[in-house]
Amino acid sequence: MSEADCIFCKIARGDLDTEIVHDEDDVLAFEDINSQAPVHILIIPRQHVANLEEIGALPDAVVKRMFEVASAVAQKFGVTESGYAVRINNGRDAGQEVFHFHLHVMGGKKLGMP
Ligand code: AMP
Ligand code: ZN
Repeated sequence: MSEADCIFCKIARGDLDTEIVHDEDDVLAFEDINSQAPVHILIIPRQHVANLEEIGALPDAVVKRMFEVASAVAQKFGVTESGYAVRINNGRDAGQEVFHFHLHVMGGKKLGMP
């Protein structure tokens, strides 16, 4: 998939009507459209990389910043104390649907594995 038709690149460009919850130069966070938990936020790098196999294309600071934003978003939504999952679905068996690398931040209920 090219960046032109990548749905998360469109969100990063502001082309879609999305509930943005955190916005900065290299990293963006927004509500998952099909929420699986009371808190379900997606964290993306603005730069398009498809998956963990391409993570080397991102500057180290951006990868680190994604996790800092995950923590900040958890704080903002009040789940730091109760806890939350930070999840990456990578590839077919994990059910990855959008091939623009992202973290799921999920909380507000008891979450199990997988
Ligand atoms: P996955 O690729 O399995 O990590 O899942 C992609 C996630 O993106 C799913 O939880 C979808 O509900 C979510 N999603 C897909 N399109 C949008 C959108 N336009 N806005 C917000 N979330 C989306
Ligand atoms: Zn993209």
